[in-house]
Amino acid sequence: MRVQQINEHIYRILLAWGNAYVLKEGDRVALIDTGLQRDRDDLLRALNEIGVETRQVSAVFLTHGHTDHAGNAALFAKQGAKLYAHTLEIPHLRPPILPYSYDMQKLRRPFTSLAFTIGERRFPVERYPDIERVEEGSLIEAPGGSLHVIATHGHSPGHVSYWYQPHDILFSGDAILTIIPIRLKQELSLPMRLFSTNWAQAIQSAKYLSRTTPAMMLPGHGNPLIEDAPERLEKWGETL
Ligand SMILES: [Zn+2]
Repeated sequence: MRVQQINEHIYRILLAWGNAYVLKEGDRVALIDTGLQRDRDDLLRALNEIGVETRQVSAVFLTHGHTDHAGNAALFAKQGAKLYAHTLEIPHLRPPILPYSYDMQKLRRPFTSLAFTIGERRFPVERYPDIERVEEGSLIEAPGGSLHVIATHGHSPGHVSYWYQPHDILFSGDAILTIIPIRLKQELSLPMRLFSTNWAQAIQSAKYLSRTTPAMMLPGHGNPLIEDAPERLEKWGETL
């Protein structure tokens, strides 16, 4: 676990499989994604390091419901935080459980697919019944500014990215990473096809985001993209 302060309002918490982000303005705190359930102690330690108590977290904005992003969302919700996710993602987050479908991959790579399914069972997302819906274009107040929702479906059915205004910072979730999965090379990357629901849609979403011009991009996995973010995104997007 490592805490990295990005600017006056944003902290990155590097967890076992990826990033969670803290938005903070005075006593007001929100999270973007929450890591795996087994990251819980690390996440709470990191919040403590930043000077945040669990009950201060008033909102959790999920990019999607995969186990390495939504693993601790219910923990904060049970202490009063509002949980936000896209309408199409909600069936995967609240009871009864609707598993993600990776149908095409199941046919092509049955063993890896099985491994992921077992992984999801091993590190399950704690379900929570009460989730606020977000849609493309939703604008939600957050500590230090507001979050504009960009539908970036494909990696999961209701995956979203968040544009943090007025700072022009893009939280891309798993739509665009800055580390190549498995190879762990630090480069702009799509997520793993194997763990994505609709690959053609995932590519379209990444292309769309690559044409935005953020001051920086903070992904679900990998380091922040800070230097020349718009140029690098555009150049990479042209290769898709
Ligand atoms: Zn994911």
